[in-house]
Amino acid sequence: MLDNLTQRLAKVVKTMRGEARLTESNTAEMLREVRLALLEADVALPAVREFIAKVKEKALGEEVIGSLSPGQALVGVVQKELAALMGADLGPEASQLSFAQQPPAIILMAGLQGVGKTTTTGKLAKYLKEQKKKVLTVSADVYRPAAIAQLESVTKQVGADFFPSTANDKPVDIALAALDWAKKHYHDVLIIDTAGRLAIDEAMMQEIAAVHAAVKPIETLFVVDAMVGQDAINTAKAFNEALPLTGVILTKLDGDSRGGAALSVRHVTGKPIKFAGVSEKLDGLEAFDPARMANRVLGMGDILALVEEARKGVDMQAAADMANKIKSGGKFDMNDFKAQLTQMKKMGGMSGLLDKLPAQFQQAAAGANMDQAEKQVRRMCGIIDSMTPQERAKPELIKANRKRRIAAGAGVQVQEVNRMLTQYDQMNTMMKKLKGGGLMKMMRGMKG
Ligand code: GDP
Repeated sequence: MLDNLTQRLAKVVKTMRGEARLTESNTAEMLREVRLALLEADVALPAVREFIAKVKEKALGEEVIGSLSPGQALVGVVQKELAALMGADLGPEASQLSFAQQPPAIILMAGLQGVGKTTTTGKLAKYLKEQKKKVLTVSADVYRPAAIAQLESVTKQVGADFFPSTANDKPVDIALAALDWAKKHYHDVLIIDTAGRLAIDEAMMQEIAAVHAAVKPIETLFVVDAMVGQDAINTAKAFNEALPLTGVILTKLDGDSRGGAALSVRHVTGKPIKFAGVSEKLDGLEAFDPARMANRVLGMGDILALVEEARKGVDMQAAADMANKIKSGGKFDMNDFKAQLTQMKKMGGMSGLLDKLPAQFQQAAAGANMDQAEKQVRRMCGIIDSMTPQERAKPELIKANRKRRIAAGAGVQVQEVNRMLTQYDQMNTMMKKLKGGGLMKMMRGMKG
């Protein structure tokens, strides 16, 4: 999706790596990149401005969670606000359809030609049928007989009922006749597909407004193609002014879209995005999930997974405690060493960790045998477990005899115990050098 956003953010995350906190100045740099990326992706300027202001406010107020670098933390804030921009702030009910109308509940479909209105009508019919609703569809597109036939075809494919209409009828009459039929045949839902044009057109707007006034639908859904950019904003504005929209359906999200429409449409209409079209097939409709969409727009699954874990507080307290201990002159002992190893394991193990890294790192790491590395960590933990508490607190006590006992206890060779002790020594030396402040930094490095 918003490739540039991903690239720009990644760049800033990298440059912010050395810094300890989110500040006015390092945040400003990142926000500049976010702003540019959003504008490049055709997000409307007012939406961008509002978005940036919110992210800034949140970012400066946000505690950077122990394990995250400020760059990663900022990505987390951007994700949350993107989700909010696309409707997460409205709660999960926002994407639901209302049936609070004397049966049938009427759904009016609005949008330009080619956006996927008819296909989406079929998809909705299928979706509702799966909820055990008796569904009737009708086409008020009297300009294109092919459109009526297309709706009939998709309706039959999903096993819903179809109310026939012809090019000689008037849209309002068609809608009223279908409504009458639906009432008589106890349909729960009537979906009215309408005529689209290639561009906004006064006559079309009047026509759909007249249909709206005649049947008073409980849902008026604006269908918009996610592949179009700025134009989507103007169309959304025009439809929103002509009709009391209740929601938006974004189609073609499976395509190679820049996603700007997804971000602006909610801002422009103030209406929730209820569904997303994700394929040409009739089962390709999903309830819109703002948080998931935000992840997708960001395209930074790696960092977001880390943010998610940090939010869950994966032993970050332990890391902070360890850092404090060393800072105040405490010793980095075997228990600390094990805590660090365990932390790596908790983060989903080495291979789990690998999944969270960006693709280019994954490729680079593909050469290394991750299973092997994971096994190694497990064995090292086993060795530490075979030590007495005293040995763990004072590893320098561990001489030949003790090494043999520990190796036997852990079921490994003495060489392996030696290797582990060497690794511990190296870590210990590093710890002394880093003196705590650097420890957190190192852990961050380990995570991202
Ligand atoms: P209408 O003119 O708005 O009624 O548009 P149609 O329903 O005829 O759809 C136009 C084209 O978009 C058709 O080729 C559909 O198969 C395609 N389409 C509709 N929705 C989606 C979607 O979610 N994903 C993809 N890839 N194609 C879609």
